[in-house]
Amino acid sequence: MIMHSPPMISSLINALPKAELHIHVEGTLEPELILEFAKKNKVQIPYNSVEEIKKAYRFKNLEDFLNLYYSGLRVLKDEDDFYTLTMNYLERANENNIRHVELSFDPQAHTRRGVKFEDVIEGIHSALKDGKKKYGISWLLILSILRDLSVEDAMQTLSKAEEYKDIIGAIGLDSSEFGNPPSKFKKVFEKAKTLGFHRVAHAGEEGPPSYIHEAIELGVERIDHGIRAIEDEKLMQELGKMRIAFTLCPLSNLKLNVVKSLENYPLREFSKAGIMVTINSDDPPYFGGYINKNYEEVAKALDLKPEEIIEIAKNSIIASFAPERRKREILRKINKVEKNYLDNT
Ligand SMILES: [Zn+2]
Repeated sequence: MIMHSPPMISSLINALPKAELHIHVEGTLEPELILEFAKKNKVQIPYNSVEEIKKAYRFKNLEDFLNLYYSGLRVLKDEDDFYTLTMNYLERANENNIRHVELSFDPQAHTRRGVKFEDVIEGIHSALKDGKKKYGISWLLILSILRDLSVEDAMQTLSKAEEYKDIIGAIGLDSSEFGNPPSKFKKVFEKAKTLGFHRVAHAGEEGPPSYIHEAIELGVERIDHGIRAIEDEKLMQELGKMRIAFTLCPLSNLKLNVVKSLENYPLREFSKAGIMVTINSDDPPYFGGYINKNYEEVAKALDLKPEEIIEIAKNSIIASFAPERRKREILRKINKVEKNYLDNT
């Protein structure tokens, strides 16, 4: 019997080219950057050191996290800040062997505190272009609607997205789930479809399985999280039949108490039902790890076989909105890694 030791699994994970499909640029704000931006922009924050900030990263639930997340964002003021933030993520993405990223951003979290939409998007866009040149990471930008704000606000934000149709590829839905079901944004998602945007939505992270059902009714092409689908067998069957993808974020789910432990993480159940599972990092510094760490922790907890890990990496490419040619290009690289791995074990 071949034993798959943790170092072997880690090197396999690292060797695999991957796509990251669930990552919030604002959620990549490292403590060091919070301090740097606060100083530069003269924003008062209640922390003096990286250690103090890290100590604050103890969340009981999604609400707890969102409070800290939104207060951290106050340090971001101008185009340069968004450029630096995005570049910082891309550097780490490259270290994690991410070859394609579908990056979410929350413009409403900035425009409502007086930062210009243009500054946010231009900063992010410049970094994505430079990241592609420097690291070869292809990208798609997801404008995520804050579901705890009004539909009118969402519609106005969508009009902004329309102006930047050449940069923004998809519309998403995030933030506080309770009391903000996907159906609230029916009009917004209909318009987004008409405008030709891809559509995704967070659903079933803290919200009930019915929210996942509603997200499907909105016509989304992927479900972000979707973890609570496990509570509804009929829904699981439906999702499996559709071969829809879930962008799972294990360390986020663990830190926010969406799951009690990774040993019971329902990844295999989803996969068996036919759902296309992918692994992502959501808001890495807040939850304790970038994409490879998420793969590693799940692989360890569930004792995933190398074939299963390779399958998840392939899923990330297939479930992405990258052009078919780009998908084939990355899948070929994964096949090479797979062959090398099999030849050497
Ligand atoms: Zn998320």
